[in-house]
Amino acid sequence: MDQELHILFFPFLGHGHMIPMSDMATLFATRRGVRATIVTTPLNAPTISRTIQEGGEDEGTHANIQIRTIKFPCAEAGLPEGCENPDLVPSSAMIPNFLKATTMLQGPLEHLLLQEHPDCLIASAFFPWATDSAAKFNIPRIVFHGTGVFSLCAAECIRLYEPHKKENIVSSDSEPFVIPHLPGAKEITMTRNALPDYVKSDDEEAESSRSRIVKAIKESEVTSFGVVVNSFYELEQIYADYYDEVQGRKAWYIGPVSLCRGGEDKHKAKRGSMKEGVLLKWLDSQKPKSVVYVCFGSMTNFSETQLKEIATGLEASGQQFIWVVRRTDQVQEWLPEGFERRMEGRGVIIRGWAPQVLILDHEAVGGFVTHCGWNSTLEAVSAGVPMVTWPVSAEQFYNEKLVTDILEIGVPVGVKKWARVVGDDSITSSAVERAINRIMVQEEAESFRNRAHKLAQVARTAVQDNGSSHSHLTALIQQLRFATMPAFALP
Ligand code: UDP
Repeated sequence: MDQELHILFFPFLGHGHMIPMSDMATLFATRRGVRATIVTTPLNAPTISRTIQEGGEDEGTHANIQIRTIKFPCAEAGLPEGCENPDLVPSSAMIPNFLKATTMLQGPLEHLLLQEHPDCLIASAFFPWATDSAAKFNIPRIVFHGTGVFSLCAAECIRLYEPHKKENIVSSDSEPFVIPHLPGAKEITMTRNALPDYVKSDDEEAESSRSRIVKAIKESEVTSFGVVVNSFYELEQIYADYYDEVQGRKAWYIGPVSLCRGGEDKHKAKRGSMKEGVLLKWLDSQKPKSVVYVCFGSMTNFSETQLKEIATGLEASGQQFIWVVRRTDQVQEWLPEGFERRMEGRGVIIRGWAPQVLILDHEAVGGFVTHCGWNSTLEAVSAGVPMVTWPVSAEQFYNEKLVTDILEIGVPVGVKKWARVVGDDSITSSAVERAINRIMVQEEAESFRNRAHKLAQVARTAVQDNGSSHSHLTALIQQLRFATMPAFALP
Protein backbone atom coordinates (compact mmCIF):
# COMPACT_ATOMS: atom_id res chain seq x y z
CA MET A 1 0.00 0.00 0.00
CA ASP A 2 1.38 3.43 -1.01
CA GLN A 3 1.83 6.04 1.71
CA GLU A 4 -0.79 8.79 1.55
CA LEU A 5 0.24 11.89 -0.34
CA HIS A 6 -1.41 15.14 0.72
CA ILE A 7 -0.99 18.02 -1.71
CA LEU A 8 -1.85 21.60 -0.93
CA PHE A 9 -2.83 23.78 -3.89
CA PHE A 10 -2.59 27.53 -3.62
CA PRO A 11 -3.93 29.21 -6.80
CA PHE A 12 -3.57 32.87 -7.61
CA LEU A 13 -6.92 34.56 -7.01
CA GLY A 14 -7.99 34.93 -10.64
CA HIS A 15 -10.20 32.58 -12.66
CA GLY A 16 -7.31 31.81 -15.03
CA HIS A 17 -5.50 30.10 -12.12
CA MET A 18 -8.32 28.98 -9.83
CA ILE A 19 -10.17 26.99 -12.51
CA PRO A 20 -7.23 24.94 -13.84
CA MET A 21 -5.78 24.39 -10.35
CA SER A 22 -9.15 23.08 -9.13
CA ASP A 23 -9.19 20.71 -12.11
CA MET A 24 -5.63 19.75 -11.29
CA ALA A 25 -6.52 19.03 -7.67
CA THR A 26 -9.33 16.83 -8.98
CA LEU A 27 -6.92 14.94 -11.22
CA PHE A 28 -4.53 14.29 -8.34
CA ALA A 29 -7.40 13.26 -6.06
CA THR A 30 -8.59 10.63 -8.54
CA ARG A 31 -5.29 8.78 -7.97
CA ARG A 32 -5.12 6.19 -5.24
CA GLY A 33 -3.73 7.42 -1.93
CA VAL A 34 -3.67 11.09 -2.94
CA ARG A 35 -5.72 13.83 -1.33
CA ALA A 36 -5.85 17.53 -2.04
CA THR A 37 -6.46 20.73 -0.11
CA ILE A 38 -7.12 23.95 -2.03
CA VAL A 39 -6.45 27.22 -0.25
CA THR A 40 -8.33 30.35 -1.25
CA THR A 41 -10.20 33.34 0.17
CA PRO A 42 -13.90 33.30 1.16
CA LEU A 43 -15.26 35.13 -1.91
CA ASN A 44 -13.30 32.88 -4.28
CA ALA A 45 -14.32 29.61 -2.63
CA PRO A 46 -17.58 29.20 -4.64
CA THR A 47 -15.67 29.26 -7.97
CA ILE A 48 -13.44 26.50 -6.69
CA SER A 49 -16.20 24.34 -5.26
CA ARG A 50 -18.24 24.66 -8.48
CA THR A 51 -15.26 23.59 -10.59
CA ILE A 52 -14.57 20.62 -8.33
CA GLN A 53 -18.20 19.56 -8.49
CA GLU A 54 -17.98 19.52 -12.29
CA GLY A 55 -14.89 17.34 -12.35
CA GLY A 56 -13.95 13.91 -11.04
CA GLU A 57 -15.52 10.62 -11.85
CA ASP A 58 -17.22 9.84 -8.58
CA GLU A 59 -18.05 11.04 -5.11
CA GLY A 60 -14.85 9.39 -3.84
CA THR A 61 -12.80 11.94 -5.72
CA HIS A 62 -14.71 14.83 -4.21
CA ALA A 63 -14.31 13.38 -0.74
CA ASN A 64 -10.54 13.57 -1.26
CA ILE A 65 -10.58 17.33 -1.84
CA GLN A 66 -11.14 19.99 0.78
CA ILE A 67 -11.16 23.78 0.53
CA ARG A 68 -9.62 25.92 3.27
CA THR A 69 -10.03 29.68 3.32
CA ILE A 70 -7.81 32.48 4.53
CA LYS A 71 -8.78 36.11 4.94
CA PHE A 72 -7.81 38.49 2.13
CA PRO A 73 -6.30 41.69 3.62
CA CYS A 74 -8.27 44.27 1.60
CA ALA A 75 -8.18 47.08 4.15
CA GLU A 76 -4.51 46.51 5.00
CA ALA A 77 -3.59 46.87 1.30
CA GLY A 78 -5.78 49.93 0.70
CA LEU A 79 -8.50 48.08 -1.23
CA PRO A 80 -12.26 48.35 -0.75
CA GLU A 81 -13.77 45.36 1.03
CA GLY A 82 -14.61 42.44 -1.27
CA CYS A 83 -11.79 42.97 -3.80
CA GLU A 84 -10.56 39.39 -3.51
CA ASN A 85 -10.13 38.84 -7.25
CA PRO A 86 -8.55 41.14 -9.89
CA ASP A 87 -11.91 40.96 -11.60
CA LEU A 88 -13.50 42.71 -8.61
CA VAL A 89 -10.91 45.48 -8.28
CA PRO A 90 -12.67 48.72 -9.32
CA SER A 91 -9.83 50.28 -11.33
CA SER A 92 -6.56 49.15 -12.87
CA ALA A 93 -4.81 51.80 -10.74
CA MET A 94 -5.60 49.56 -7.75
CA ILE A 95 -3.98 46.42 -9.19
CA PRO A 96 -0.69 47.18 -7.35
CA ASN A 97 -2.72 47.24 -4.10
CA PHE A 98 -4.18 43.88 -5.04
CA LEU A 99 -0.70 42.46 -5.69
CA LYS A 100 0.48 43.91 -2.38
CA ALA A 101 -2.41 42.15 -0.61
CA THR A 102 -1.37 38.82 -2.17
CA THR A 103 2.12 39.16 -0.67
CA MET A 104 0.48 39.50 2.76
CA LEU A 105 -0.95 36.00 2.37
CA GLN A 106 2.39 34.40 3.24
CA GLY A 107 1.75 34.41 7.02
CA PRO A 108 -1.77 32.92 6.79
CA LEU A 109 -0.57 30.32 4.27
CA GLU A 110 2.26 29.25 6.57
CA HIS A 111 -0.21 28.99 9.43
CA LEU A 112 -2.24 26.57 7.28
CA LEU A 113 0.86 24.59 6.34
CA LEU A 114 1.49 24.18 10.06
CA GLN A 115 -2.05 22.93 10.65
CA GLU A 116 -2.38 20.73 7.56
CA HIS A 117 1.24 19.47 7.26
CA PRO A 118 0.88 18.51 3.56
CA ASP A 119 3.61 16.64 1.69
CA CYS A 120 3.86 19.15 -1.14
CA LEU A 121 2.81 22.71 -2.01
CA ILE A 122 1.71 23.51 -5.57
CA ALA A 123 1.43 27.29 -5.76
CA SER A 124 0.89 29.79 -8.56
CA ALA A 125 4.00 31.44 -9.93
CA PHE A 126 2.65 34.80 -8.73
CA PHE A 127 3.49 33.66 -5.20
CA PRO A 128 7.29 33.39 -5.59
CA TRP A 129 7.68 33.47 -1.80
CA ALA A 130 5.82 30.14 -1.57
CA THR A 131 9.12 28.33 -2.23
CA ASP A 132 10.53 29.76 1.02
CA SER A 133 7.31 28.90 2.84
CA ALA A 134 7.51 25.28 1.67
CA ALA A 135 11.20 25.10 2.63
CA LYS A 136 10.32 26.16 6.19
CA PHE A 137 8.20 23.02 6.43
CA ASN A 138 10.71 20.86 4.59
CA ILE A 139 8.34 20.06 1.75
CA PRO A 140 8.76 20.48 -2.03
CA ARG A 141 7.16 23.45 -3.79
CA ILE A 142 5.97 23.12 -7.37
CA VAL A 143 5.28 26.17 -9.55
CA PHE A 144 2.15 26.60 -11.67
CA HIS A 145 2.34 29.36 -14.29
CA GLY A 146 -1.11 29.06 -15.81
CA THR A 147 0.42 29.29 -19.31
CA GLY A 148 1.79 26.90 -21.89
CA VAL A 149 5.48 26.20 -22.35
CA PHE A 150 5.87 27.92 -25.73
CA SER A 151 5.12 31.28 -24.13
CA LEU A 152 7.40 30.50 -21.17
CA CYS A 153 10.29 29.76 -23.54
CA ALA A 154 9.60 32.74 -25.82
CA ALA A 155 9.34 35.17 -22.90
CA GLU A 156 12.53 33.80 -21.38
CA CYS A 157 14.43 34.18 -24.68
CA ILE A 158 13.32 37.79 -24.86
CA ARG A 159 14.21 38.40 -21.22
CA LEU A 160 17.67 36.88 -21.62
CA TYR A 161 18.69 38.17 -25.06
CA GLU A 162 16.72 41.45 -25.21
CA PRO A 163 16.40 41.64 -29.02
CA HIS A 164 13.89 44.47 -28.65
CA LYS A 165 16.57 46.70 -27.11
CA LYS A 166 19.10 46.24 -29.94
CA GLU A 167 18.91 49.25 -32.19
CA ASN A 168 20.66 47.48 -35.07
CA ILE A 169 17.80 44.93 -35.03
CA VAL A 170 14.73 46.99 -34.17
CA SER A 171 14.33 50.59 -35.18
CA SER A 172 10.67 51.11 -34.31
CA ASP A 173 7.96 49.69 -32.06
CA SER A 174 6.18 48.17 -35.03
CA GLU A 175 9.18 46.53 -36.70
CA PRO A 176 9.08 42.73 -36.39
CA PHE A 177 12.12 40.98 -34.92
CA VAL A 178 12.86 37.29 -34.62
CA ILE A 179 12.73 35.81 -31.12
CA PRO A 180 16.34 34.62 -30.79
CA HIS A 181 17.35 31.05 -29.89
CA LEU A 182 13.82 29.70 -29.94
CA PRO A 183 13.80 26.20 -31.47
CA GLY A 184 11.57 25.15 -34.34
CA ALA A 185 11.57 25.13 -38.12
CA LYS A 186 9.85 28.50 -38.33
CA GLU A 187 11.24 31.79 -37.10
CA ILE A 188 8.77 33.43 -34.74
CA THR A 189 8.59 37.21 -34.81
CA MET A 190 7.32 39.77 -32.35
CA THR A 191 7.23 43.55 -32.21
CA ARG A 192 8.01 45.86 -29.32
CA ASN A 193 4.36 46.91 -29.44
CA ALA A 194 3.27 43.36 -28.63
CA LEU A 195 5.56 42.99 -25.59
CA PRO A 196 4.23 43.61 -22.08
CA ASP A 197 5.15 47.10 -20.89
CA TYR A 198 7.11 45.71 -17.92
CA VAL A 199 9.40 43.90 -20.37
CA LYS A 200 10.16 46.77 -22.69
CA SER A 201 10.22 49.59 -20.21
CA ASP A 202 13.56 51.06 -19.16
CA ASP A 203 11.80 53.00 -16.49
CA GLU A 204 12.62 50.83 -13.47
CA GLU A 205 10.81 53.24 -11.19
CA ALA A 206 7.47 53.10 -13.00
CA GLU A 207 7.53 49.37 -13.55
CA SER A 208 9.42 48.40 -10.42
CA SER A 209 6.71 46.33 -8.74
CA ARG A 210 5.99 44.28 -11.88
CA SER A 211 9.61 43.78 -12.92
CA ARG A 212 10.53 42.81 -9.36
CA ILE A 213 7.82 40.17 -9.32
CA VAL A 214 8.93 38.79 -12.73
CA LYS A 215 12.51 38.42 -11.43
CA ALA A 216 11.34 36.73 -8.24
CA ILE A 217 9.16 34.34 -10.26
CA LYS A 218 12.10 33.32 -12.45
CA GLU A 219 14.26 32.69 -9.39
CA SER A 220 11.59 30.62 -7.65
CA GLU A 221 11.12 28.55 -10.83
CA VAL A 222 14.76 27.48 -10.60
CA THR A 223 14.86 26.88 -6.85
CA SER A 224 11.60 24.94 -6.61
CA PHE A 225 11.04 21.19 -7.11
CA GLY A 226 9.71 21.79 -10.64
CA VAL A 227 6.93 23.21 -12.75
CA VAL A 228 3.57 21.65 -13.49
CA VAL A 229 2.09 22.70 -16.84
CA ASN A 230 -1.50 22.63 -18.04
CA SER A 231 -0.64 21.44 -21.54
CA PHE A 232 0.17 18.15 -23.20
CA TYR A 233 3.61 17.17 -24.38
CA GLU A 234 2.63 16.55 -28.01
CA LEU A 235 1.21 20.06 -28.36
CA GLU A 236 4.41 21.91 -27.53
CA GLN A 237 7.00 19.14 -27.77
CA ILE A 238 10.05 21.05 -29.05
CA TYR A 239 9.45 23.84 -26.56
CA ALA A 240 8.99 21.37 -23.71
CA ASP A 241 12.36 19.82 -24.64
CA TYR A 242 13.98 23.25 -24.90
CA TYR A 243 12.57 24.27 -21.51
CA ASP A 244 14.07 21.16 -20.01
CA GLU A 245 17.36 20.76 -21.88
CA VAL A 246 18.38 24.37 -22.57
CA GLN A 247 16.55 26.45 -20.01
CA GLY A 248 17.16 23.79 -17.38
CA ARG A 249 13.68 23.50 -15.86
CA LYS A 250 12.03 20.31 -14.65
CA ALA A 251 8.43 20.21 -15.84
CA TRP A 252 5.47 17.83 -15.96
CA TYR A 253 2.79 18.25 -18.64
CA ILE A 254 -0.49 16.95 -17.25
CA GLY A 255 -3.20 18.71 -19.28
CA PRO A 256 -5.57 19.65 -20.70
CA VAL A 257 -6.86 19.56 -17.15
CA SER A 258 -10.33 20.78 -18.22
CA LEU A 259 -10.86 17.34 -19.78
CA CYS A 260 -11.32 15.95 -16.28
CA ARG A 261 -14.73 17.62 -16.59
CA GLY A 262 -15.33 15.77 -19.82
CA GLY A 263 -18.30 13.70 -18.66
CA GLU A 264 -21.70 15.13 -18.09
CA ASP A 265 -22.86 18.29 -19.77
CA LYS A 266 -25.15 19.09 -16.91
CA HIS A 267 -22.18 19.43 -14.57
CA LYS A 268 -20.29 21.65 -16.97
CA ALA A 269 -23.31 23.82 -17.50
CA LYS A 270 -23.46 24.79 -13.84
CA ARG A 271 -20.60 27.20 -14.52
CA GLY A 272 -22.87 29.54 -16.46
CA SER A 273 -25.17 32.17 -15.09
CA MET A 274 -27.50 31.86 -18.08
CA LYS A 275 -30.22 29.26 -18.14
CA GLU A 276 -28.13 26.54 -19.69
CA GLY A 277 -31.14 24.59 -20.89
CA VAL A 278 -32.19 27.46 -23.18
CA LEU A 279 -28.67 27.87 -24.47
CA LEU A 280 -28.28 24.15 -25.16
CA LYS A 281 -31.63 24.00 -26.93
CA TRP A 282 -30.60 26.90 -29.14
CA LEU A 283 -27.22 25.25 -29.90
CA ASP A 284 -28.96 21.93 -30.63
CA SER A 285 -31.08 23.69 -33.24
CA GLN A 286 -28.04 24.98 -35.16
CA LYS A 287 -26.17 23.16 -37.91
CA PRO A 288 -22.82 21.55 -37.01
CA LYS A 289 -19.88 24.01 -37.04
CA SER A 290 -22.12 26.96 -37.84
CA VAL A 291 -21.82 29.04 -34.63
CA VAL A 292 -18.94 31.31 -33.72
CA TYR A 293 -18.34 31.74 -30.00
CA VAL A 294 -16.89 35.10 -28.89
CA CYS A 295 -15.46 35.50 -25.39
CA PHE A 296 -12.48 37.36 -23.96
CA GLY A 297 -11.94 35.58 -20.65
CA SER A 298 -12.60 36.70 -17.13
CA MET A 299 -10.78 40.04 -17.00
CA THR A 300 -10.65 41.78 -20.36
CA ASN A 301 -12.86 44.78 -20.97
CA PHE A 302 -13.38 46.77 -24.13
CA SER A 303 -14.44 50.33 -24.77
CA GLU A 304 -17.96 50.92 -26.06
CA THR A 305 -16.48 51.90 -29.43
CA GLN A 306 -14.79 48.52 -29.70
CA LEU A 307 -17.92 46.65 -28.59
CA LYS A 308 -19.86 48.37 -31.34
CA GLU A 309 -17.26 47.34 -33.94
CA ILE A 310 -17.49 43.73 -32.72
CA ALA A 311 -21.29 43.79 -33.00
CA THR A 312 -21.16 45.27 -36.51
CA GLY A 313 -18.54 42.72 -37.59
CA LEU A 314 -20.56 39.83 -36.20
CA GLU A 315 -23.65 41.01 -38.03
CA ALA A 316 -21.77 41.53 -41.30
CA SER A 317 -20.15 38.06 -41.08
CA GLY A 318 -23.55 36.45 -41.57
CA GLN A 319 -22.63 33.73 -39.05
CA GLN A 320 -24.63 32.52 -36.05
CA PHE A 321 -22.94 33.55 -32.82
CA ILE A 322 -22.76 33.44 -29.03
CA TRP A 323 -21.11 36.59 -27.71
CA VAL A 324 -20.13 36.93 -24.06
CA VAL A 325 -20.04 40.53 -22.87
CA ARG A 326 -18.74 41.27 -19.39
CA ARG A 327 -21.31 43.95 -18.74
CA THR A 328 -24.63 43.61 -17.10
CA ASP A 329 -25.97 47.13 -17.75
CA GLN A 330 -29.35 47.23 -19.34
CA VAL A 331 -28.63 50.43 -21.29
CA GLN A 332 -27.01 49.14 -24.44
CA GLU A 333 -25.74 52.20 -26.19
CA TRP A 334 -22.73 50.21 -27.23
CA LEU A 335 -24.90 48.06 -29.50
CA PRO A 336 -25.74 49.32 -33.00
CA GLU A 337 -29.36 50.46 -33.24
CA GLY A 338 -31.80 47.58 -33.66
CA PHE A 339 -28.99 44.99 -33.35
CA GLU A 340 -30.77 42.64 -30.95
CA ARG A 341 -33.97 42.71 -32.98
CA ARG A 342 -32.16 41.96 -36.22
CA MET A 343 -30.08 39.21 -34.60
CA GLU A 344 -33.03 37.42 -32.98
CA GLY A 345 -32.62 33.71 -33.64
CA ARG A 346 -29.22 34.28 -35.21
CA GLY A 347 -27.20 35.28 -32.21
CA VAL A 348 -27.16 35.11 -28.42
CA ILE A 349 -25.54 37.69 -26.15
CA ILE A 350 -24.57 36.36 -22.74
CA ARG A 351 -24.06 39.11 -20.18
CA GLY A 352 -21.64 38.06 -17.46
CA TRP A 353 -20.38 34.49 -17.24
CA ALA A 354 -20.84 31.76 -19.87
CA PRO A 355 -20.47 27.97 -19.55
CA GLN A 356 -17.46 28.11 -21.87
CA VAL A 357 -16.32 24.49 -21.90
CA LEU A 358 -19.88 23.34 -22.55
CA ILE A 359 -20.23 25.77 -25.45
CA LEU A 360 -16.87 24.95 -27.06
CA ASP A 361 -17.61 21.23 -26.82
CA HIS A 362 -20.95 21.55 -28.60
CA GLU A 363 -20.90 20.27 -32.17
CA ALA A 364 -22.68 23.40 -33.44
CA VAL A 365 -19.65 25.54 -32.53
CA GLY A 366 -17.21 25.98 -35.41
CA GLY A 367 -15.06 28.91 -34.36
CA PHE A 368 -13.89 30.87 -31.32
CA VAL A 369 -12.94 34.55 -31.18
CA THR A 370 -10.61 34.57 -28.18
CA HIS A 371 -8.27 36.85 -26.25
CA CYS A 372 -5.83 33.90 -26.20
CA GLY A 373 -5.82 33.41 -22.43
CA TRP A 374 -4.09 30.08 -22.01
CA ASN A 375 -7.08 28.25 -20.56
CA SER A 376 -9.35 29.43 -23.33
CA THR A 377 -6.75 28.50 -25.95
CA LEU A 378 -6.32 25.01 -24.54
CA GLU A 379 -10.07 24.52 -24.12
CA ALA A 380 -10.49 25.35 -27.82
CA VAL A 381 -7.68 22.95 -28.74
CA SER A 382 -9.34 20.23 -26.63
CA ALA A 383 -12.64 20.82 -28.42
CA GLY A 384 -11.07 20.97 -31.90
CA VAL A 385 -12.33 24.52 -32.54
CA PRO A 386 -10.31 26.92 -34.77
CA MET A 387 -9.71 30.41 -33.43
CA VAL A 388 -9.70 34.08 -34.35
CA THR A 389 -6.92 35.40 -32.12
CA TRP A 390 -7.42 38.73 -30.37
CA PRO A 391 -4.68 39.01 -27.74
CA VAL A 392 -4.87 41.80 -25.19
CA SER A 393 -2.37 41.47 -22.34
CA ALA A 394 -0.25 39.09 -20.23
CA GLU A 395 1.40 36.39 -22.42
CA GLN A 396 -1.51 36.34 -24.90
CA PHE A 397 0.53 37.64 -27.86
CA TYR A 398 2.80 34.58 -27.55
CA ASN A 399 -0.22 32.29 -27.41
CA GLU A 400 -1.47 33.93 -30.59
CA LYS A 401 1.81 32.96 -32.33
CA LEU A 402 1.41 29.37 -31.18
CA VAL A 403 -2.13 29.19 -32.55
CA THR A 404 -1.57 30.98 -35.86
CA ASP A 405 2.08 30.38 -36.84
CA ILE A 406 2.93 27.05 -35.22
CA LEU A 407 -0.24 25.00 -34.86
CA GLU A 408 -1.96 26.79 -37.76
CA ILE A 409 -5.42 26.48 -36.27
CA GLY A 410 -6.36 30.13 -36.29
CA VAL A 411 -6.04 33.55 -37.85
CA PRO A 412 -5.15 36.85 -36.20
CA VAL A 413 -7.77 39.60 -36.11
CA GLY A 414 -4.86 42.02 -36.31
CA VAL A 415 -4.22 43.42 -32.82
CA LYS A 416 -0.90 45.23 -32.73
CA LYS A 417 -0.51 46.56 -29.23
CA TRP A 418 -0.23 44.95 -25.81
CA ALA A 419 -2.58 46.63 -23.35
CA ARG A 420 -3.55 46.16 -19.73
CA VAL A 421 -6.97 44.60 -19.15
CA VAL A 422 -8.86 47.21 -21.19
CA GLY A 423 -8.07 46.24 -24.76
CA ASP A 424 -6.84 48.55 -27.46
CA ASP A 425 -9.86 49.67 -29.49
CA SER A 426 -8.31 49.70 -32.93
CA ILE A 427 -10.00 46.68 -34.53
CA THR A 428 -12.58 47.55 -37.16
CA SER A 429 -15.79 45.69 -37.86
CA SER A 430 -14.49 44.63 -41.27
CA ALA A 431 -11.39 43.04 -39.67
CA VAL A 432 -13.75 41.10 -37.36
CA GLU A 433 -15.93 40.04 -40.27
CA ARG A 434 -12.94 38.98 -42.43
CA ALA A 435 -11.26 36.93 -39.70
CA ILE A 436 -14.49 35.15 -38.70
CA ASN A 437 -15.24 34.19 -42.26
CA ARG A 438 -11.70 32.89 -42.79
CA ILE A 439 -12.14 30.30 -40.04
CA MET A 440 -15.83 29.59 -40.58
CA VAL A 441 -16.58 29.42 -44.27
CA GLN A 442 -13.79 30.38 -46.63
CA GLU A 443 -11.58 27.93 -48.50
CA GLU A 444 -9.00 27.69 -45.70
CA ALA A 445 -11.67 26.95 -43.07
CA GLU A 446 -11.63 23.24 -43.84
CA SER A 447 -7.90 22.90 -43.28
CA PHE A 448 -8.04 24.87 -39.99
CA ARG A 449 -10.85 22.58 -38.90
CA ASN A 450 -9.03 19.38 -39.86
CA ARG A 451 -5.87 20.37 -38.02
CA ALA A 452 -7.86 21.45 -34.96
CA HIS A 453 -9.81 18.19 -35.00
CA LYS A 454 -6.61 16.12 -35.08
CA LEU A 455 -5.11 18.07 -32.19
CA ALA A 456 -8.25 17.52 -30.13
CA GLN A 457 -7.89 13.79 -30.64
CA VAL A 458 -4.26 13.92 -29.48
CA ALA A 459 -5.33 15.95 -26.43
CA ARG A 460 -7.95 13.38 -25.48
CA THR A 461 -5.52 10.51 -25.92
CA ALA A 462 -2.96 12.32 -23.76
CA VAL A 463 -5.24 12.28 -20.70
CA GLN A 464 -6.37 8.69 -21.10
CA ASP A 465 -4.67 5.77 -19.31
CA ASN A 466 -1.03 5.63 -20.41
CA GLY A 467 -1.36 8.78 -22.52
CA SER A 468 1.47 11.30 -22.12
CA SER A 469 -0.31 13.55 -19.59
CA HIS A 470 -1.57 10.58 -17.62
CA SER A 471 1.99 9.19 -17.48
CA HIS A 472 3.47 12.56 -16.49
CA LEU A 473 1.03 12.76 -13.59
CA THR A 474 1.94 9.21 -12.52
CA ALA A 475 5.64 10.08 -12.70
CA LEU A 476 5.14 13.29 -10.72
CA ILE A 477 3.22 11.49 -7.97
CA GLN A 478 5.92 8.82 -7.78
CA GLN A 479 8.66 11.42 -7.55
CA LEU A 480 6.81 13.26 -4.82
CA ARG A 481 6.35 10.04 -2.86
CA PHE A 482 10.05 9.37 -3.22
CA ALA A 483 11.02 12.93 -2.26
CA THR A 484 8.84 12.89 0.82
CA MET A 485 9.99 9.52 2.16
CA PRO A 486 11.71 10.25 5.48
CA ALA A 487 15.17 9.16 4.25
CA PHE A 488 14.95 11.39 1.20
CA ALA A 489 13.27 14.41 2.70
CA LEU A 490 14.63 17.73 1.51
CA PRO A 491 17.47 19.09 3.62
N1 UDP B 1 -14.55 31.35 -18.49
C1 UDP B 1 -15.84 30.84 -18.49
N2 UDP B 1 -16.86 31.67 -18.80
C2 UDP B 1 -16.67 32.98 -19.13
C3 UDP B 1 -15.36 33.49 -19.16
C4 UDP B 1 -14.33 32.64 -18.85
O1 UDP B 1 -16.06 29.66 -18.18
O2 UDP B 1 -17.65 33.67 -19.41
C5 UDP B 1 -13.45 30.46 -18.10
C6 UDP B 1 -12.73 29.88 -19.29
O3 UDP B 1 -13.35 28.67 -19.70
C7 UDP B 1 -11.32 29.68 -18.75
C8 UDP B 1 -11.18 30.80 -17.74
O4 UDP B 1 -12.48 31.22 -17.39
O5 UDP B 1 -11.23 28.42 -18.09
C9 UDP B 1 -10.43 32.00 -18.29
O6 UDP B 1 -9.08 31.73 -18.34
P1 UDP B 1 -8.15 32.28 -19.50
O7 UDP B 1 -6.76 31.83 -19.19
O8 UDP B 1 -8.67 31.90 -20.81
O9 UDP B 1 -8.29 33.85 -19.42
P2 UDP B 1 -8.21 34.94 -18.22
O10 UDP B 1 -9.59 35.07 -17.71
O11 UDP B 1 -7.24 34.41 -17.20
O12 UDP B 1 -7.73 36.16 -18.93
